[in-house]
Amino acid sequence: MTGNLIAENFPQGAAGRVSGIYDLIIIGGGPAGLTSGIYAARARLNCLLLERQALGGQVLTTAWVENYPGFPEGIGGYELVAKMAEQAEVFGLKILTREVIGLQENAEILQVLTPEEKLPCRSAIVATGADYAHLGVPGEDRLRGHGVSYCATCDGAFFKDLPVAVVGGGDTALAEALFLTRFASSVTLIHRRDRLRAAKILQERAKENEKIRFLWNSQVKEIAGAREVEGITVEDKVTQKVTELPVKGIFIFVGSQPNTGMFQGTLSLDEMGFVTTDEELRTSCTGVYAAGDCRKKSFRQIATAVGEGALAVHSAIDYLEHFPFPSPGKSP
Ligand SMILES: Cc1cc2nc3c(=O)[nH]c(=O)nc-3n(C[C@H](O)[C@H](O)[C@H](O)COP(=O)(O)OP(=O)(O)OC[C@H]3O[C@@H](n4cnc5c(N)ncnc54)[C@H](O)[C@@H]3O)c2cc1C
Repeated sequence: MTGNLIAENFPQGAAGRVSGIYDLIIIGGGPAGLTSGIYAARARLNCLLLERQALGGQVLTTAWVENYPGFPEGIGGYELVAKMAEQAEVFGLKILTREVIGLQENAEILQVLTPEEKLPCRSAIVATGADYAHLGVPGEDRLRGHGVSYCATCDGAFFKDLPVAVVGGGDTALAEALFLTRFASSVTLIHRRDRLRAAKILQERAKENEKIRFLWNSQVKEIAGAREVEGITVEDKVTQKVTELPVKGIFIFVGSQPNTGMFQGTLSLDEMGFVTTDEELRTSCTGVYAAGDCRKKSFRQIATAVGEGALAVHSAIDYLEHFPFPSPGKSP
């Protein structure tokens, strides 16, 4: 399904091996990175976007997006990012499939490191997003892909007429629980608190849905099964009562962790690993900006990632106009 969104399928992708120093390298091809790519290519910067997998980021694992402006009926996640990638292509953005493993400063020139090469540039935007967090309970890693999932869109259809559990209490957990009711016979939503964080409209829909039941103040202690999930152990945190639930699938949506390990020591990160920036999205490293879910902030959505992708390019252009004598980057 994501095959069309790999870099080499873009006309500029294979032709993007330009030598010399790039004005800007964008690291990550999710909504933030693709928006930066659209703005930078349209501004005629000598720009390159590096993505380790298919373009689209987390939105590729989102069945249906109904809060992104411009689509009153909602839009499929794949379709939305395919449109963003197509728009970047219109402006001739160069894209390569590469995993970035680090960033080095060398006088005014930055070096973006991949296993294959060092790519020199004057400025960079870190838009590496985030991956799902794990519960860290016995059985989770062993049964991943065998009933343990972090993506309802990808795996929901395997659970037709079967009971499943969803762990989490935010927007993603509720939206994905609602999506799973299309397939599963029942969806047990397990939340460690006694109230949900999710938007009220999602809470209302979930509470009205006959297939969804809630386990409050509860946490998963273990996921059981020899080769596939056969059940989970859940503890009530108030009564300490332990219950076995005979579910065949468990979908985990308990937050995210930023993809920033490769920038440790180069960029200032908070205690969770999110990149700290100032209001113009400058990081602690001169010429390097951060946008989207990898950034320290309170609200991680497509709309916020897209806005920051645009702002990061604006800041980078301002910096490049003064290059090689930039005013010192403000430390966040
Ligand atoms: C299941 C689910 C449902 C969601 N539903 C909604 C919704 O309905 N509405 C909404 O607004 N938001 C939703 N979100 C949140 C939204 O998807 C994110 O806020 C948004 O995708 C963030 O965009 P981003 O570009 O910052 O990061 P990401 O989407 O995470 O993209 C980052 C990209 O960087 C790449 N990358 C990472 N490390 C490297 C590296 N070392 N080298 C090269 N590339 C790298 C990744 O492969 C990825 O493609 C949902 C998220 C999930 C998981």
